[in-house]
Amino acid sequence: MKKRQAILWGLLLGIGLGLPLVSGPDGPVEIISVPATVDARRALRGMDLDLLMERDGRIFVVAGPDDLLRLSARRITFLIETGSFTAAQPGELRLAGGINGAYHSYKELEGDLESLESAHPSIVGLHTIGTSLEDRHIYAVKISDNVDRDEEEPGVLFLGCHHAREWISVEVPLLLARRLAEGYEGDPAIRELVDRSEIWIVPLLNPDGLEYSINVYRYWRKNRRANADGTFGVDLNRNYGYMWGRDNQGSSAWPDAEDYRGVSAFSEPETRAVRDLFLGGNFLAAVSYHSYSQSILYPWGFTDIPTGKDELLRGLGLEMAGLIETVNGRSYACGPAASSLYVTNGDLADWTFGVSGIPSYTIELPPVDIQHGGFFNAEDEIEGVFRENLPAMLRLVEFVVRDFAGPPTTRPGPLTNPDQKDK
Ligand SMILES: [Zn+2]
Repeated sequence: MKKRQAILWGLLLGIGLGLPLVSGPDGPVEIISVPATVDARRALRGMDLDLLMERDGRIFVVAGPDDLLRLSARRITFLIETGSFTAAQPGELRLAGGINGAYHSYKELEGDLESLESAHPSIVGLHTIGTSLEDRHIYAVKISDNVDRDEEEPGVLFLGCHHAREWISVEVPLLLARRLAEGYEGDPAIRELVDRSEIWIVPLLNPDGLEYSINVYRYWRKNRRANADGTFGVDLNRNYGYMWGRDNQGSSAWPDAEDYRGVSAFSEPETRAVRDLFLGGNFLAAVSYHSYSQSILYPWGFTDIPTGKDELLRGLGLEMAGLIETVNGRSYACGPAASSLYVTNGDLADWTFGVSGIPSYTIELPPVDIQHGGFFNAEDEIEGVFRENLPAMLRLVEFVVRDFAGPPTTRPGPLTNPDQKDK
């Protein structure tokens, strides 16, 4: 989910943004907005300010007292917007013991993954598939029998948190890893799936962004790339190499935009980590979790032209939506990404589908809209959101197991797209 519309609503509704109102050496730090003019842009870039977002023709930045004086000296008018952002209450955040409550920080996740591996060493393998710009590990959990061996088994990939503020998308894949590991002994259905497949789970692809979202600015979306123009962040889900940068509607060429695609395809260590994991395995399905809007989206994102495999993608997607709805009664819409949500280019599902033709989904978790909380899922909803998604996750694992065992002709093969040849 993006971007300006959600942010606008968040501001209008005064939703708690978790922004600590820190004090600088000379006084409080404010959030201000300035008109997005050429002069203002130039001035802001020269001042090394922390750009938060741009919407409705205004640029929002974090500024200290000195910065405000410098802006005044440059005759740039600004509005103090701090009051529109409600500070998070530390007490609320620490209810469940962590800095962000029941949600995981990077360190908490790391600890939990290590514990999971040491409690179930025969079926859980913890791998570091890359290192973020701020030197955090990008973890992938492999769950399979003979987990240390690379067996002739089909792979399925579950990924969370391309987008920092979508905290629920860390928890759902993490809980899947835990459920598979803990259910292996006592649940024959889980045992069979784990024995016959290699399930890879990357719960937190964007650790730098998540930490920034927890500690500095709740609405942060991108990674923390220091862009050449002084702004921060690349939208990881616009940085993959299939139809990357195809147009400026599906991603942005501007570094200060929320959907900035980066300087080149796979310019970011996070997307390279996914690329290398994926190309080194035998993946027959992939799901990328996001929030919010309750939808199951399949390729293409970059165009509304059908893929040629829509029957398979739609059939499996509708089946997953049906399984989800039976749990809590929540309905997830299902459709091709470009016509369901908005056009995107360079996202993960288009890339995995584009290079291998496998069923690839973006699942937007609850809530359904901003009025129901947007990016803010209550802590006590985590378990319910996971539980409703579990049957769909297991169905996808079952799909790859059966598909792998079936006649080779039914197996997805690499796709060629006439458009791709000159890309
Ligand atoms: Zn997202």
